Amino acid sequence: MVGGAAAVTGVQCTHSQNKREQKTISADLVVDASGRSTNAADWLQQIGHSAPSVDVVNAGLGYATGRYQLPDGWQADWKVLLIGHAPPHNHRLGYLAKVENNELIATLGGYENRCPPLEQKAFLAFAQQLPEASFYNAIEPLTPVSPLKAYRSTANKLRRYDTLKQMPIGFIAIGDAVCALCPAYGQGLTTSGLSALVLQDWLSKNELTDTRAFQKKLFKKIKPSFDMAAKSDSGFVNVKGRLSKGRFERLMGGYMQRLITKSHTDSELSLAIAKISHMVDSPIKLFHPKMLLKLT
Ligand SMILES: Cc1cc2nc3c(=O)[nH]c(=O)nc-3n(C[C@H](O)[C@H](O)[C@H](O)COP(=O)(O)OP(=O)(O)OC[C@H]3O[C@@H](n4cnc5c(N)ncnc54)[C@H](O)[C@@H]3O)c2cc1C
Repeated sequence: MVGGAAAVTGVQCTHSQNKREQKTISADLVVDASGRSTNAADWLQQIGHSAPSVDVVNAGLGYATGRYQLPDGWQADWKVLLIGHAPPHNHRLGYLAKVENNELIATLGGYENRCPPLEQKAFLAFAQQLPEASFYNAIEPLTPVSPLKAYRSTANKLRRYDTLKQMPIGFIAIGDAVCALCPAYGQGLTTSGLSALVLQDWLSKNELTDTRAFQKKLFKKIKPSFDMAAKSDSGFVNVKGRLSKGRFERLMGGYMQRLITKSHTDSELSLAIAKISHMVDSPIKLFHPKMLLKLT
């Protein structure tokens, strides 16, 4: 990033292979959309600005993923199979989907750093511990066609540009570079899409100097997604940066948990909950009489 204490005036690019090859690009507005691992806080500090504080809620989820060859004529009564975690006691999740080349992609996850192993036999043993047998039964007879790969950068992070006393002119941040959610909730793309809409609206008003107003508007838009993911993860015992829940939220948590448990064996309910958690439907639908009847 280039500029000074008052404003960001462009970016300095370094060639990824030849570090000596550099060029400076001037810009009226620099948008940090570089995702969860953004370095913008360091770059801002290097030119004399404050870095935003970061709200972090980390329940220590680790994934392992591999691909398996399906035999010709393989059939299942699902396209995607998801076995969800349930704090505080059920730490494991499993995800299966049929992908190209007649393969199945299989992901296992474990919270509180109970990460699935990267060795096939142990991976299968981990799958056997899921609360439901269909994941294990699907992959056990199949031949692996890839090594198992791990992913562990799953903390919920909210970079609080909205609270900076001074936001530089000429610089804003959006998407995962501001709000990176635990991937297990499948909300990141929608939340980043919402960021882009806030940016579109802000640009159309032509008030580019008020970058602080942008970050405040963005915060308002994305905070509910952060709360949803972070509060769910806060249900685990060994979570770092737990968000506390009020009485109403605890009540709601209990209700949600009953719905989620029921959804393991009720595909209509499972679809309804997926639509709400993926932000396609409003959370108000959780209180539809049809939902309440599911628990009777
Ligand atoms: C394992 C995993 C599973 C996920 N599953 C889901 C899901 O099922 N559903 C869902 O909605 N979301 C999911 N997400 C989250 C989703 O991928 C992100 O929320 C979304 O991609 C964020 O978009 P973004 O454009 O802000 O950042 P990104 O998609 O991360 O894009 C940032 C881009 O910037 C580039 N970049 C970084 N630094 C620099 C630099 N210095 N210079 C130039 N370029 C740079 C990166 O290479 C990258 O291409 C998942 C995330 C992970 C990690």
